[in-house]
Amino acid sequence: MVRGLSLTAANLLLLVLLVCQINGQETQSRKLKSAPKQAEFSGLITSRLSLKELERWKTIERIVFADDERQQPLHPTLRNLWEWVDASGHAVFVEIMRSTKTSTCTAGSFVIERFDPKGEKHIAVIKLNLSSIDQAYVGSDSARDSGFVPFEWLSKEERYVEVLGHELAHAVHILTNLERAGKVEEMIEKTNEMLLSPRPSRKDTPLSPEMKRRLSRRDALLKDLEKQAEEMEYVIWRELTASKPIREKLPSSLATQ
Ligand SMILES: [Zn+2]
Repeated sequence: MVRGLSLTAANLLLLVLLVCQINGQETQSRKLKSAPKQAEFSGLITSRLSLKELERWKTIERIVFADDERQQPLHPTLRNLWEWVDASGHAVFVEIMRSTKTSTCTAGSFVIERFDPKGEKHIAVIKLNLSSIDQAYVGSDSARDSGFVPFEWLSKEERYVEVLGHELAHAVHILTNLERAGKVEEMIEKTNEMLLSPRPSRKDTPLSPEMKRRLSRRDALLKDLEKQAEEMEYVIWRELTASKPIREKLPSSLATQ
């Protein structure tokens, strides 16, 4: 679910998630105060972005939808993921994390905020941590098992696009399948809520056997989901690197920036 920087093990990913959640405002995100109003919208929704963030989002969008000289999409996989979410009927909000504690935080995340048991309209959020992406180490030590080095050869904005692609891949994979979305809700979101719920004596209380079982099921699911998203991310990275020389020749509004 969470795209960690230089971390591959699911438990480490989760640890990072928890650090982010405790440090940031994520624990509040599932409490949708204005859910009925928000639920009127569907697709990829930018209403939670400030004007300044919206400007950065437009730059990301321009890269995603860049065409070549013959008006053919330069990033078909990425564009398909975006367009699927837009037409899905689900509401996927975009947020840019404002946590100042960026160095230990994740690059992005996809979270279901409100699960619809009928599967008609889930409410979810994709969060991007731009500062964390800016600070990411890029080199052989951050290579994945396949040898792929995330962000390699990419500009600052292209790296944001790569992370967005990873999170969109999660969104499509999870939201296309009600059973899978239900598992994410039950095994990941609920488990995380249980872990983060305020319990004064939590520090002194060891995890119950039931909670330990929950955690291992959740981590196995996270690992599966991560594998799928990382495969898609590699495809997206290839599209971005292949299109780079073409985009650099295009008018400035479509160039790498
Ligand atoms: Zn992920």
